[in-house]
Amino acid sequence: MIFRQLYEPISSTYTYLLGCEETGLAVLVDPVINAVQRDLDEVRKHGLMLAYTLDTHIHADHITSALQLKQKVGSKIAAPAMEGLPCTDVGIEEGKLFQVGSLNFTPLHTPGHTDGHFAYIFQDRVFSGDALLIDGCGRTDFQNGDTDELYRTVNEKLFALPEDYLVYPAHDYHDRRVSTIAQEKNRNPRLGQGKTLEEFREIMRNLNLDYPKFIDYAVPGNRQCGVCPPDLPEHLQEYCQRMVHSPQG
Ligand code: FE
Repeated sequence: MIFRQLYEPISSTYTYLLGCEETGLAVLVDPVINAVQRDLDEVRKHGLMLAYTLDTHIHADHITSALQLKQKVGSKIAAPAMEGLPCTDVGIEEGKLFQVGSLNFTPLHTPGHTDGHFAYIFQDRVFSGDALLIDGCGRTDFQNGDTDELYRTVNEKLFALPEDYLVYPAHDYHDRRVSTIAQEKNRNPRLGQGKTLEEFREIMRNLNLDYPKFIDYAVPGNRQCGVCPPDLPEHLQEYCQRMVHSPQG
């Protein structure tokens, strides 16, 4: 199995490349539109063919490259079925294994950050999307977010996984790359150490986060599997421009 963690600096998003060595098929989890060329170069560098893109949720902070990749290399689009996106080729559901070559993803419905959010268990790791971040979690104040739901998702689904499972989040804003279930149970300041629902509600209520600056463009764009709006204001154009600096080379 080939595994690469790729970083997109504008939205601080991690994209994951998984490759099946037997079939040469690859999957990109949460690819970002401005990094499309970097990701394709990475796929080719490993002698792989991109078979699928797989998104964890409808993102509000970046636009997925699912559609552009489909147009460029014919990859299929996998996304949560409950979002009802007509542009999706494969609808992801809990209890239905998603298989590409020898790569097996077990989808877990993990609502709270958004209602249609999924995490994907892959071998001894979980792509946790924005449900569980390293020492944090996704916000719950937009996109049908629900603080109580996120509390249940993390405690009943993610913290129920084996403690040595690796946690690969969709974002990190402090250069951290990976955690474990045990580490989040112990150290996560919002949900760790057995925080009560009331404590979690209080923490989430007091985050005082700014209105997400890209949300009004990202959500409609992502509901079309990744379309950059033609009317993007000047100061937001970098979200749709080709990435110039690629930390992965
Ligand atoms: Fe998100």
